[in-house]
Amino acid sequence: MIRLSPGDAARIRRAAEAAWPEECCGLLVGHAEGDAVVVDEVAESLNLSASPGDSFEIDMRLRLRLHRELRGTGREIVGHYHSHPGGPPHPSERDRLQAWEPELVWLIVPVADGRAGEAAAFRLAPDGTAFQPVPIVMLA
Ligand SMILES: [Zn+2]
Repeated sequence: MIRLSPGDAARIRRAAEAAWPEECCGLLVGHAEGDAVVVDEVAESLNLSASPGDSFEIDMRLRLRLHRELRGTGREIVGHYHSHPGGPPHPSERDRLQAWEPELVWLIVPVADGRAGEAAAFRLAPDGTAFQPVPIVMLA
């Protein structure tokens, strides 16, 4: 399960609409509670992919900076998000090929005609072969 505040969810939707027709991407910061992750910060990244219309690449410098800032705070990078312009909120074949961290939650936002739709979340199975759906719960 991934728990997300309405404000952070809205921020991700706005980023997805602003990036359309390209993919947006960013990191989700928070903490783990057993199997669940609680997101308390959304860190927007540049999409550094050479083909941003159908793929994403998070800025490694952002990731390293967050990693340094979060050290010792009890908070960590718990996942990332990206958008699918004109596609469903399911991991693409390309997503599967570039997934390698089973501990991170993937949040995917569909965007149709510049409007963000209902996001879905996934996590790579421990053996790395497939994505499994992760329920999204909105924090009150
Ligand atoms: Zn994707």
